[in-house]
Amino acid sequence: MSNKVIIFSAPSGAGKSTIVNHLLKKYPELEFSISATSRAPRGQEKHGVEYYFFTADEFRSMIAEDKFVEHEEVYAGSYYGTLKSEVDRIWAKGNTIIFDIDVQGGVNLKRIFGEQAFSIFIQAPSVEVLRERLIGRGTDTPEAIEKRVAKAASEMEFADGKFDYKLINDDLETAFAEAESVVGSFLKR
Ligand code: 5GP
Repeated sequence: MSNKVIIFSAPSGAGKSTIVNHLLKKYPELEFSISATSRAPRGQEKHGVEYYFFTADEFRSMIAEDKFVEHEEVYAGSYYGTLKSEVDRIWAKGNTIIFDIDVQGGVNLKRIFGEQAFSIFIQAPSVEVLRERLIGRGTDTPEAIEKRVAKAASEMEFADGKFDYKLINDDLETAFAEAESVVGSFLKR
């Protein structure tokens, strides 16, 4: 099968980006889908690298022009979406697209791409472990941590049964090996 996509979704703190970056290094035929967003660049982020950055007005015009495969207002006033041109760009090179997207977006993409897609939900082993990881990271206040934990719990419930594969990220090396194995078999299809 050609023109394939792999979708990764996870609640925050589950280790999604670490696993996606590992797979990008392991399989050269994978290419990361750069999303469009209307949020401001953070730190060293550059247009066309982490995201394609647009104003909210530009983003809304592009929605009206039907330029997106999927789009969502992930936070109030902040739009995120996958451009049709991005999908075409990656497939034109013969590569398989890898998406790092929120849980709702992941479910939408799986519905759109069907059999061409393999969707993976990454989950922390438990709500307690997730809370400990967020505390250990030391970047959030206790209130913010509780908000993230509550969101993660509801996302886990929402995701149940909607993804092709659920990967529990307990030990990172084990999670890498499991991700390599399931992605490897999908790439051979
Ligand atoms: P951040 O602003 O932290 O980079 O991303 C915020 C959230 O938006 C994350 O959950 C991220 O996965 C999600 N996101 C990034 N790109 C897209 C996209 O193209 N579509 C949707 N629906 N969500 C996205």
